[in-house]
Amino acid sequence: MSDPQRCPVVIVGGGMAGLALALLLRHHGQPQVTLIEAAPLDGPGDPLTPSFDARSTALSAGSLTIFDTLGIGAALRQQAAPIATVDVSRRSRLGHTRMSAAEEGLPMLGAVVENRWLGRVLLDAAAADQGIRVLAPMQTQGVRRLADGYAVLLPEATLHCDLLIAADGAHSRTREALGISARHHDLGHDALIANVELGVDHHGIAWERFLDDGPLALLPLPGRRMALIWTGPRARMAELNALSDDALLAALQDAIGPDRLHPFTRLGTRHCYPLVLTQASAQVVPYAVVVGNAAHTLHPVAGQGFNLTLRDLAALAECVGASEQPGALATLSQYVAGRAADQALVGHASRWLPELFRVRFGPFAHSRQLGLAALDLWPGLRSAFAARAMGLAHGN
Ligand SMILES: Cc1cc2nc3c(=O)[nH]c(=O)nc-3n(C[C@H](O)[C@H](O)[C@H](O)COP(=O)(O)OP(=O)(O)OC[C@H]3O[C@@H](n4cnc5c(N)ncnc54)[C@H](O)[C@@H]3O)c2cc1C
Repeated sequence: MSDPQRCPVVIVGGGMAGLALALLLRHHGQPQVTLIEAAPLDGPGDPLTPSFDARSTALSAGSLTIFDTLGIGAALRQQAAPIATVDVSRRSRLGHTRMSAAEEGLPMLGAVVENRWLGRVLLDAAAADQGIRVLAPMQTQGVRRLADGYAVLLPEATLHCDLLIAADGAHSRTREALGISARHHDLGHDALIANVELGVDHHGIAWERFLDDGPLALLPLPGRRMALIWTGPRARMAELNALSDDALLAALQDAIGPDRLHPFTRLGTRHCYPLVLTQASAQVVPYAVVVGNAAHTLHPVAGQGFNLTLRDLAALAECVGASEQPGALATLSQYVAGRAADQALVGHASRWLPELFRVRFGPFAHSRQLGLAALDLWPGLRSAFAARAMGLAHGN
């Protein structure tokens, strides 16, 4: 085997988090970033990694601003649908609220982009940057601690880096090799996702509908299409998934309400994701950081996971970007301390939101109805809800 290659920063995992971080580090002055991805990334078609699959991602206004600073916002918007309004309601209960971009004084609350397009845009930007070296498809064989960094073992080479970043997903082998444990909490729920076509314009409205056994979201996509994310107990979602397209569209119409979005005309390919919340016991050790799904995963109810991650990554890149010792624990600890409040708040909100609307009977059910009704009556509260709980307002 050849001599170890020196690489200042190595990112393991070229999904949404890894690729976005590579671009952010370069933007903040890091001269060279090496990114290792297990799945093939090049080729004329869409990238086919676990990140860039059939899902769509609701990007907050804050995330769009971050992409603008990287110079890729315009490319993303070419195939993104702006969110003009978020409509939150609970089936067969009181309470319904709408948050609108106009009310918030914003051009849009956010935008929805298909993950495949997001992947294409991130990959094209990485390929155009001479300071980003992408090794894919390439599996890491392990990592070894050095006195002042890490050795990353590849099938035919070893890389020595000052900072190692684990961005290899919720079951990160790199995180394990760093000796960082993680808690995985299986919610016993699945997310059924598919694109649906409408016979009418969606007017940029994102629908968030809390059913008795879990929330459902319909997010606007370009044209008359919407991205469906329907969550609920695993057995219930398996029942729904076994229905014919027509029967599933009828069930969706029933769930969303007869007066909304009528009619659904076509259903695309369906995919099911088990909902498992992951939390790493630590996010940094000397010379290494854990990010993205490897650090935390959230309930997809309010489309927060990647938006939170992108704020983490922007802060990390700002802390370590041009540093000559990017792996110094003092620098990494400063990053973690700066992100703790946002991560805790969003983590709690995404656990709390589905529960908030789940209770069917008794005083809690009543207070929850009042909560939603109050949101509609009190615009200031609604703005705060939009800004914080939904992760779609400016600054998030
Ligand atoms: C149904 C659903 C809907 C969602 N909707 C939203 C939304 O609307 N808005 C939002 O903000 N967030 C959303 N999220 C969250 C979002 O998908 C995650 O934040 C995002 O996927 C995190 O990406 P990641 O790169 O950290 O991890 P991953 O997507 O898991 O990518 C990890 C990458 O590492 C690679 N890898 C693994 N092992 C190795 C190895 N040994 N060597 C090299 N590479 C390796 C994998 O191939 C993969 O490419 C949603 C999540 C779900 C499940």
